Amino acid sequence: MSAKLIKGTEIREQILEEITAEVAEIKEKYGKVPGLVTILVGENPASISYVTLKIKTAHRVGFHEIQDTQSVDISEDDLLALIDKYNNDDSINGILVQLPLPKQINEKKILNAIDPDKDVDGFHPINVGRLMIGGDEVKFPPCTPAGIQEMIVRAGVETKGAEVVVVGRSNIVGKPIANMMLQKGVGANSTVTVVHTGTKDLAGHCKRADILIVAAGVPGLVKPEWIKPGACVIDVGVNRVGEKISEKTGKKIAILKGDVDFDAAKEIAGSITPVPGGVGPMTITMLMLNTLRAIKFKLGIN
Ligand code: NAD
Repeated sequence: MSAKLIKGTEIREQILEEITAEVAEIKEKYGKVPGLVTILVGENPASISYVTLKIKTAHRVGFHEIQDTQSVDISEDDLLALIDKYNNDDSINGILVQLPLPKQINEKKILNAIDPDKDVDGFHPINVGRLMIGGDEVKFPPCTPAGIQEMIVRAGVETKGAEVVVVGRSNIVGKPIANMMLQKGVGANSTVTVVHTGTKDLAGHCKRADILIVAAGVPGLVKPEWIKPGACVIDVGVNRVGEKISEKTGKKIAILKGDVDFDAAKEIAGSITPVPGGVGPMTITMLMLNTLRAIKFKLGIN
């Protein structure tokens, strides 16, 4: 059997079109568009490329977007003052601080200073708490887990009563997606197991999964024999395993591998996400969706 491919690149296009249409409607009715600011400190090349893509996507869907770049030696107080400025700026609905931050700055202090109603990354403790409570309490589900859930739903995979096994317990992927899948409601209502470095029988748990979500950061960790025939496999892992010359640009690019042995797994799974082109494109897409949610909350639109 060859699994159905769940392509993040295609789902991204559908969602961005939906967002663009909604932004146009809001603009027409209320004379406002969602505003997103990305704050970049320093010149880390990976951070620059992430932020550039976020701003480009925000522009594409019709947002008001600001790219605020600060010097690598900015003080913590000055960065806190900048956050405060955007917290009080009515044209801004979403504030994103690109991580990592330089050593002189306490990351936690900065993230906690963002107004929870503008915390479109969903990392503020108030939003983590809201996610835990679930239902109407949830304002901004964190972007990568939200993207994973959206892919599962749009692929038509039944989640109600499904055995979901999550590999990894990070605060940005493993814990939030596990929490989201166990809530009542659409795209959830599953029975969830979380496995990690302290788990005794990793393979045994994975074999029971109707939906296997892998976010370990270990290339090829999940072997084909750990996959239940017909399961939905979501590979979150993005691991750089080497470099190659791009056929398109002639430039050096990273060779990326997921946490699942894709070639063998696709013969057993019912559906599977590729790496690259799977979960990756969903994260920025969900950031756009959260920024749209932010203006809708503010305007009282359901
Ligand atoms: P992390 O290092 O913070 O957490 C990894 C988790 O996996 C840990 O909880 C650890 O206990 C578990 N783990 C590691 N090795 C294991 C093993 N051998 N057996 C069992 N459990 C093991 O990583 P993260 O931030 O959650 O990211 C995980 C992967 O997902 C990385 O490859 C990262 O690049 C990728 N990622 C992708 C996206 C995206 O595509 N948009 C976003 C976030 C993370």
